[in-house]
Amino acid sequence: MKRTIDEQGYHFEEWLTPAQIAKDVQQVADRISVDYKDKEPLFVVVLNGAFVFASDLLRALQDIRCEVTFIRVSSYYGMASTGQLEFIVPLQQVVDQRDVIIIEDIVDTGLTIHQLKAHMRAQGATSVRVATMLFKPNKLEYDDAKPDYIGREMTDEFVIGYGLDFDGFVRNLDAIYKVTDE
Ligand code: 5GP
Repeated sequence: MKRTIDEQGYHFEEWLTPAQIAKDVQQVADRISVDYKDKEPLFVVVLNGAFVFASDLLRALQDIRCEVTFIRVSSYYGMASTGQLEFIVPLQQVVDQRDVIIIEDIVDTGLTIHQLKAHMRAQGATSVRVATMLFKPNKLEYDDAKPDYIGREMTDEFVIGYGLDFDGFVRNLDAIYKVTDE
């Protein structure tokens, strides 16, 4: 039986179980471990949504030496993007001459990543790659925002749980739920 959640008048159905998520995360970690074997990357976690994925991903990465920092941006209200990226917690670490890996929960239009990549490059980062739990390829509007490491590709529905919110709530759910028409 699939678990369901009702949130603010919308019905959500469990889409990825905790076990499925763990497999996807490990697959991303394995690829990063190989690619960054002889480097010391700086992970930039995009708050708030990516904190759950980042926590699992970083603990699945035991073979590389790395640093972790956080940035907080906001472009969403409810289920729609406002198109404006606001830096609520700016970058606090020097990225000059660093190999940066941005950790995101989900890449949708790509606006957030497009702007963050430009920001890191302007600050002198040697390289900037992106690891995301979820990617909606049909919604991508910025070519340079295609993620390098993807937990799972998906269709265009709104999802919640595993760090992803609905107006600030439901980030704590251990599975990822998709909105349904019912
Ligand atoms: P983008 O800038 O790529 O359009 O959007 C990225 C951000 O939008 C994500 O970090 C996330 O906060 C939010 N977002 C995009 N799609 C979804 C979704 O299906 N569910 C939730 N909860 N947030 C989403």
